[in-house]
Amino acid sequence: MLEIQAVVCGVYDENAYIVSLPGSPDALIIDPGDDYPAIVKALAAGKKALKAVCLTHAHFDHMLAAPGLIADTGARLYVGALDLPALNDESLNLHNPDVSRLPPPAGLSGIAYGSSLVLCGVEFSVLPTPGHTPGGVCLYAKEHGVLFSGDTLFLGAFGRVDFPGSSARDMRRSLELLFALPGDTRTYPGHGGQTTIARERARYRMP
Ligand SMILES: [Zn+2]
Repeated sequence: MLEIQAVVCGVYDENAYIVSLPGSPDALIIDPGDDYPAIVKALAAGKKALKAVCLTHAHFDHMLAAPGLIADTGARLYVGALDLPALNDESLNLHNPDVSRLPPPAGLSGIAYGSSLVLCGVEFSVLPTPGHTPGGVCLYAKEHGVLFSGDTLFLGAFGRVDFPGSSARDMRRSLELLFALPGDTRTYPGHGGQTTIARERARYRMP
């Protein structure tokens, strides 16, 4: 089992997930949205030391707390290679000052994901899931039966494909990739509640 704590951030109710092995002080965070104080408070309450920041994709609502967390902890930032240009480019990360509590990142540097990585003792397969963004990924912890699906797959919906760099064709392929995972995979989306692969697969009935 994994310890997974969701911190719901910002006007879009973005889910930042603090992930660790039970009993371990080391944690990673997936998609730190703009509620930096709430994330810091959650880390402190759990007595967690942040070791890594993982992005499912480089949209502003998923990463605005990253610069502060990295400055505080020295944690490394991981992102899909094709989303690297969006880290510091407001036209690509869609930063919206009207809804953002934090300024857009500047000078943020990230490490491009490979096909897998081990962080805080947790092994992840990095599933390339373009469609919402070119470099979007989902992080699959097979041993734990857990998927972090970003803005690719939600409870009852899939991600928007009308942004710069979006592709409906790629989204379809990405959903097919996810729907090939075990049905009981507990799925933690970038917004909204949890679901399972079986539940979403049944909903879409892709031919
Ligand atoms: Zn997004």
